[in-house]
This record gives sequence, structure tokens and C-alpha cells, in this order.
Amino acid sequence: MQDYSGVWILAEQRHGTVQTISYELLTRGRALADTLGVPLAAVILGPTDDAGLDELIRRGADRVIIADAPELAEFLPEPYTRTMAHLVKTHQPEIIIAGATSSGRTLMPLLAITCHAGLTADCTGLDIEDETGNLLQTRPAIGGNIMATIKSPAHRPQMATVRPKSTRPAPADPARTGALIRETIDPELLKSRVKRLGFTPADADAANIQEAEVVVAGGRGLKKGDNFGLINALAALLGGAVGASRDAVDRGWIGYPHQVGLSGKTVSPKLYLCAGVSGSIQHLAGIKTSENIIAVNSNPEAQIFQVANYGIVGDLFEVLPLLIDKIKAKQAATAATV
Ligand SMILES: Cc1cc2nc3c(=O)[nH]c(=O)nc-3n(C[C@H](O)[C@H](O)[C@H](O)COP(=O)(O)OP(=O)(O)OC[C@H]3O[C@@H](n4cnc5c(N)ncnc54)[C@H](O)[C@@H]3O)c2cc1C
Repeated sequence: MQDYSGVWILAEQRHGTVQTISYELLTRGRALADTLGVPLAAVILGPTDDAGLDELIRRGADRVIIADAPELAEFLPEPYTRTMAHLVKTHQPEIIIAGATSSGRTLMPLLAITCHAGLTADCTGLDIEDETGNLLQTRPAIGGNIMATIKSPAHRPQMATVRPKSTRPAPADPARTGALIRETIDPELLKSRVKRLGFTPADADAANIQEAEVVVAGGRGLKKGDNFGLINALAALLGGAVGASRDAVDRGWIGYPHQVGLSGKTVSPKLYLCAGVSGSIQHLAGIKTSENIIAVNSNPEAQIFQVANYGIVGDLFEVLPLLIDKIKAKQAATAATV
């Protein structure tokens, strides 16, 4: 166990461009590495733009380990797992953090089983235990009713995934420097029985709630699916995307890709505006990195008001049309003065 040292984050690239999740993971990884007093490495598989590799260093990595074989350009479970297992064996990191993205969620369990290591998925909190230096991995458990803190004291590396958008990306420091380590991978490890035939993106309209700067969401308080028209209208006026509580999704008022929360998506917009959403612990788990939360709810005791920056206590069927009219009037006035 004592041979294992250093913290890794698993950076991701798509078509050679480093993905934002990598910078979010650097925020987590930097904090852990600083607490332990060890270096932080970003590991990235597949050919990647030099500018992206530099950015990983500017945003907190002390070193970048890249395996840039063309076979690793697209995520394929077998070559990715074998390559990572090889890198783990060579460098022996004590901690590996990956995104709970579709590739991270596929790769990390395969890697854990290959390395005989533990893995905690979908962590909301990561910390270091004072006395032992073990990784403390916190995540909701038992239907989201408790937060469980999990340790892997007997195995290395300790492995965890964290959800995209659950952390702010690390800021760039142009003065930071670091090492770039290029790894050559044995062609045997790069073989795959699975062939990638193509890529079909999810419903484009819903897929963007995690990237949107404004998310307008509705819940059971909307009473019926047709009333999502109010949410859609407000989102369109604000240039935002439409989100929903699980209750609204379960009732078939809107599709699952719009669901925000523990079993849906985590969002991190500049503005999260929700109406008729009570603010259950599971819903709040998906919105806590939002910069501003505005809630409309007729119940002054609703849980959502505990986290909202601005709360409007009122009937959404009165408040939303007023809000829509006000925004339209303001936009028209601005257009007239331009
Ligand atoms: C394992 C697990 C995972 C879960 N994952 C998620 C998840 O990812 N996302 C999620 O959202 N939930 C999730 N849930 C469900 C969660 O517990 C709640 O049931 C759900 O969030 C409630 O949705 P809601 O706020 O729309 O409905 P409710 O809790 O019923 O709230 C409706 C709100 O609307 C208000 N209201 C009613 N009429 C009006 C009106 N005219 N004007 C204004 N306000 C009005 C009410 O005061 C109330 O606060 C999960 C539950 C479990 C057990």
C-alpha cells in the first residue's frame, strides 16, 4: 500500500478537445493532493490538442500523463481499461477520480475489478481522513435519505466518480508549469472486440440542460403537462433550457432527459428558476452549484425557500404570466432603444 502515492484525475477528450469535466475534476483533485502533500496528475487517453494539455496544467495538474495512441481516440471499454490498468501498475497512484459521465461510469468499474480496488460512484463529497490519509467518499444512500461516507482502507488505488457539474471548474493560472509524460502503449493492449459504428446524440433540446446558463424548471405544482407551456415560454424568453422535478417526469408531463436531481441531471446554471417544485433533498442534490436560485411556490414553508436566493410566495399561475409580461415589456423597451 505504501508504494502507492499521488492523486490522479481522469481527464476526458472528445475529438481531441479536453472536456469541461476534466477541469471540474482538477478542482477536486487539487484539494485532495494539497491535503496529502502529493502531486496531482491528469491522465488523458487518446490524441489531444496541445492547447488542452497545457490547460490541464494551468488549471492545477502538476503533470499530465497522456496515452495518445490513435486507437484510444474514441472511448472503447477494452483498450481504455487495459491502458488504464497498465498506467496504474506503472505509476501506482493512491487515488483516482473520474467523472460520472457515460465513459467514466463504464470504465471505472472495469478498472476497479482489474486492479482489485474499491470504487464509490457518484460522490458528492471527497475528503482526506486526518489520521490515516484515507480517501473519504461521501454520497447519498438509502434513497437519498442519508449521506454515507465510504472508505477503502485495505486497497489501492482508492477510486471514486463525481457527477459532472457538481463542482466548479478550477480557474486557470497562466503562470503554472508542469510536466507532460507521453506513454507508449503495447498494441496488444489496444485491441478491441467492440467496434464503434457511430454516435447518436440524445434529444438535442433536453441534452443541453447541463450546459445552459439559465434553466427554468417545473414540478407537480403545474397540475398538468400542458401547463409546462408556461415554463417553456419563460425559458424561451430567457434563452434557457427546460428542467423538471422527478414527479413531473414520472407523470409523463415531460421527458426524463429534463429531470434535475439525484436520479436525473446535476445542473450548474447562472440562474435556476423553478415553479411548483417543493425542493426535496433529491431535487436539491441536482441544483446546489447553481449561482442563483429563484423559486415560485404557494407554500411559504416549502423546502425550496431554504436554498433560494429569491423566493416568490404565490400561485405560479398568477406569478409566471406576470413575469413573462414583465420580461417581454423589458425586452421590447430595450429593442426600441437600440
Ligand atoms: C431514490 C430517489 C431519487 C429521486 N430522485 C429525484 C430527482 O432526481 N429529482 C427530483 O426532483 N426528485 C427526485 N426524487 C423524488 C423526490 O423525493 C420528490 O418526490 C420530488 O422531487 C417532488 O417533486 P415536486 O417538487 O415536483 O412535487 P411536490 O413535492 O409534490 O411539490 C409540489 C410543490 O408545488 C407547490 N405548488 C402547488 N400548487 C402550486 C401553485 N399553484 N403555485 C405555486 N406552487 C404550487 C406545492 O406547495 C409544493 O411545494 C427522488 C426520490 C427518490 C426516493
